Amino acid sequence: MALDTEYCSFWGKLKNEAVWNDWKWQLRSRFTKLGDFLEYMGVNADHCETQSNKIPFAVTPFYASLIKQSAHAEKLLKTVVPDSRELELSPYEKHDPLEEDENSPCPAIVHRYPDRVLFLVTNNCATYCRYCTRSRLTRLTPFNTSKSQLQAGVDYISQNKQIREVIISGGDPLFLDNTKLEWIISSIRQIDHVQLVRIGTKVPLVLPQRIDDELLTILEKYPPIYVNLHVIHPDELVTDTQAAISRLVNAGCVLASQTVLLKGVNDNNDTLQCLMEKLLRNRIRPYALFHCDLVAGASHFRTDIKVGLDLVDQLRKSSSGLAVPAYIVDSRGGKVALHSTNLMKETEDAYLLRNWSGNLVKHPK
Ligand SMILES: *Cc1c(COP(=O)(O)O)cnc(C)c1O
Repeated sequence: MALDTEYCSFWGKLKNEAVWNDWKWQLRSRFTKLGDFLEYMGVNADHCETQSNKIPFAVTPFYASLIKQSAHAEKLLKTVVPDSRELELSPYEKHDPLEEDENSPCPAIVHRYPDRVLFLVTNNCATYCRYCTRSRLTRLTPFNTSKSQLQAGVDYISQNKQIREVIISGGDPLFLDNTKLEWIISSIRQIDHVQLVRIGTKVPLVLPQRIDDELLTILEKYPPIYVNLHVIHPDELVTDTQAAISRLVNAGCVLASQTVLLKGVNDNNDTLQCLMEKLLRNRIRPYALFHCDLVAGASHFRTDIKVGLDLVDQLRKSSSGLAVPAYIVDSRGGKVALHSTNLMKETEDAYLLRNWSGNLVKHPK
């Protein structure tokens, strides 16, 4: 992957390509001082807000360089730069809006639906999103889940036979090194009743160097591995991130996307259509478009639910059906897939349906 020469001249010393492509160097060298980051971006730091809701500020050199080269840098910046509006708490917002802590039979497990669990293996991320749904964890001192808690999680999964899917999440699971990751995946795979392993990650977009041969060899050993990418904007799919995604697909992973609908970032038809179609061209199936959760300090990112419904309707009109994700509102008690109402009326022998073009058609019962 090409070294960013602007990045080198910013720091005044030339790193070589091997260093730039070392994922551990990328993590060690993350921008963690907002002033440095904004200066590199060429953004006037006077306007920057330093007070935030305590989600850490960290951006990999790779993602910083991607944003800088984006034609929509100001949009992507909103998602990583702390903002004083994060301190505004709406009355209905909560630190744990999905009541995950109440559904946590042991520290690393969230068990809300009968057949599947979240396995939270770290609170670290390579780059932090300001609207993080799990900010109650990412705000804490960085930790990787301890071996004994991981073991307790594995034990819980093996003792509960109704669990057929484990979603490895965090933080970002690909933050962990390969030894730990392989221990987790192989331990889950040894449980007979677990059919599916899903990994939720943003790493291929913010740290594509992480998708190296050693990781791919591990992922290849335990099929099927479903990987759900957190992608929010078409500009995140550039040569290097697309190559990392391609390596995952070629290693047998099945890729899908989850996107958070974010005001001023991707809440318009052109951006979403471009994103969904670009995902498909990269062998990623658009899976979910999430209404921004009622997490504390994210109200400036939240759209009206009707905006989301209209946008998904627009996608259905203008794109392949493959490009249309489910629009999901996660509320107390679980996810709700919302659809605009297309079943307009019921008569004795037929339904009146509204089709993609808005026309009404009579469909016999
Ligand atoms: C979102 C979520 C899942 C996965 O839901 P899907 O509809 O299968 O994508 C599982 N457990 C918890 C607690 C979740 O929040």
